[in-house]
Amino acid sequence: MSTFLFNEVVFGPVRSRRFGVSLGINLLPCDRKVCSFNCIYCECGWTAKDNSGTGNSWPDPSTIEAMLEQRLIEMKSNGELPNSITFAGNGEPTLHPQFLSIIKSTISLRDKYAPGAIVTVLSNATTAHRPDVFEALMLVDSHVMKLDAGTDETYQRINQPASSSPFSKILSNLMLFNGDLTIQTMFVKGMLDGQVIDNTTALEVSTWLDHLVQIKPQLVMIYSIARDTPASDLRIVEREQLNKIAGLVEELGIKAEVF
Ligand code: SF4
Repeated sequence: MSTFLFNEVVFGPVRSRRFGVSLGINLLPCDRKVCSFNCIYCECGWTAKDNSGTGNSWPDPSTIEAMLEQRLIEMKSNGELPNSITFAGNGEPTLHPQFLSIIKSTISLRDKYAPGAIVTVLSNATTAHRPDVFEALMLVDSHVMKLDAGTDETYQRINQPASSSPFSKILSNLMLFNGDLTIQTMFVKGMLDGQVIDNTTALEVSTWLDHLVQIKPQLVMIYSIARDTPASDLRIVEREQLNKIAGLVEELGIKAEVF
């Protein structure tokens, strides 16, 4: 199926289902995906074996800053400032070795040109235990962290993490936020390599809810696939079922939104 890479460092704005008018920043190389996960639904395609974070040519912080400033000046003069400056793109943004300094300069530019915008980071939480990454995440307005499974088995099947990121580490990283975070969860069904993929089973949902009780997020974003996926035999989870799962989250006293 047809997946795609972002070929720019600063992209958009795009009108996002979740973030409104979102100006995207892709801290990953423009010619390949770099990620510590290999999610079976990733819109950027599969993670190559040698592309989990080392040996890559990262965009330079001063170049990123200049491109973002230019784009914000253009948007301001057009009267179309973003609702969110969103770190996403061709993989896991926190893998950039100078993530902290990039976040600091982005916040300065936001304050100067678009004070009404929030700065959002989408992350898979594999690096949140690193002091520099955690400091950066604490500086931004919205840290949206991925949790797609209740059990380790389903985590391995859906997210296909690098070996350095066991499920227990992801859960402990999510606990570091003391509830000051948003969880995003992709629900998906299908088959891959002869194995059933389904994180909507009673066991998966109940164990996932148990994790949410421990993590205490401010918000849970629930969604299903909306674009082509690298695994060809995946199916969307219908909105009715997503709404039921959101209802179970709300019963815990945690806000949930279905997108
Ligand atoms: S964490 Fe995000 S970028 Fe990485 S493989 Fe999963 S969906 Fe793709």
